[in-house]
Amino acid sequence: PCPTPGEADDPKTIRRRIAEVARVLDDFGALSHPASPRAAYLARLVEDVGAYYGYNAFLAGAIFALLPPAEALALIEAQEARRPTTLRANTLKSRRRDVAAALIARGVALDPVGPWSKVGLVVYEAPVPLGATPEYLAGHYMLQGAASLLPVMALGAQPGETVVDLAAAPGGKASHIGAMMKNRGVLWVNEASAGRLRSVSANLSRLGVTCGVVCNYDGRDLPRVLGERCADRALLDAPCSGTGVVAKDPGVKGSKSQADIWRCAHLQKALLLAAIDLVDAGSPSGGVVVYSTCSIMVEENENVVNYALRKRHVRVVDAGLGFGRPGLVRWREHRFHPSLAHARRFYPHTHNLDGFFVAK
Ligand code: SAM
Repeated sequence: PCPTPGEADDPKTIRRRIAEVARVLDDFGALSHPASPRAAYLARLVEDVGAYYGYNAFLAGAIFALLPPAEALALIEAQEARRPTTLRANTLKSRRRDVAAALIARGVALDPVGPWSKVGLVVYEAPVPLGATPEYLAGHYMLQGAASLLPVMALGAQPGETVVDLAAAPGGKASHIGAMMKNRGVLWVNEASAGRLRSVSANLSRLGVTCGVVCNYDGRDLPRVLGERCADRALLDAPCSGTGVVAKDPGVKGSKSQADIWRCAHLQKALLLAAIDLVDAGSPSGGVVVYSTCSIMVEENENVVNYALRKRHVRVVDAGLGFGRPGLVRWREHRFHPSLAHARRFYPHTHNLDGFFVAK
């Protein structure tokens, strides 16, 4: 039958049981005991993952509902390790090869982050603090997760355009957008939290972004403040549950509830409609909106975009990123618009990136 826990199992025993139960679930017909239903094995797994890794039952259950058991475990295991440190060469002030050469001269071991980015570098070893080198202080690079390059690449802002970043602090993506615009045009850099504005201004100024206008509104009010259809492109890197960046913030494992996820989704839906309303479909860009989160929850991702598809005359297109898993079109009892397959999901265990979602 499905293994039962002992009174005081040590972590090793729990870990062994997790592996055993996941193996049974992956080949249930052949390996399960006739007296134990699938639900019993799943419940065992959720409880053991809670005890071993520190997840609450809600989040562990959500992960096992999202991915097949062995893969869900691989994700949970990958979330235990932090992603490699990465940085973005700031093309407003330098070139990737010059940033790399300067840091190598300081003893830093690094490489291009992958064939998919022209500006990202991954750091293997740094004998100096990367946030305090003369090159950093001079704005030659920004420290940011590799996944955070993706939404900006999908947005594809061009020099001379009007672009809005609705939720910008601390400004990693906004400064990347400014670099892609070559400082020509207007970049509205908005952030609702007044306390986080200082980091935005400091980063934009250090990185030499001069086309940015920093503002402090609730993103939902921006169509009223800036005017509907005022922009060629908009980025909504939405506030989210952070369930894709557990390695960075382990507190997420035990603290999120289903109510938190729906609360995030509610705000995300309203912000996404605002982003869409800011963009002019008649723009030469065609009117581009990119929605991203560092959450793996379907409620905050496909479900939010699907809502916008019903409320506005928009469609999901290929984000042009060339990798990542397709967005889901079926999940539990839900059926999403087929174009959601163009959205992209990124996972720590498959891409060595933070858990991330991008839809264009
Ligand atoms: N794009 C940023 C970057 O790359 O550095 C990260 C943005 S973070 C994921 C989401 C941000 O949304 C937070 O700074 C949060 O304060 C802000 N936020 C929360 N509610 C908001 C709202 N209603 N309108 C605009 N921003 C909001």
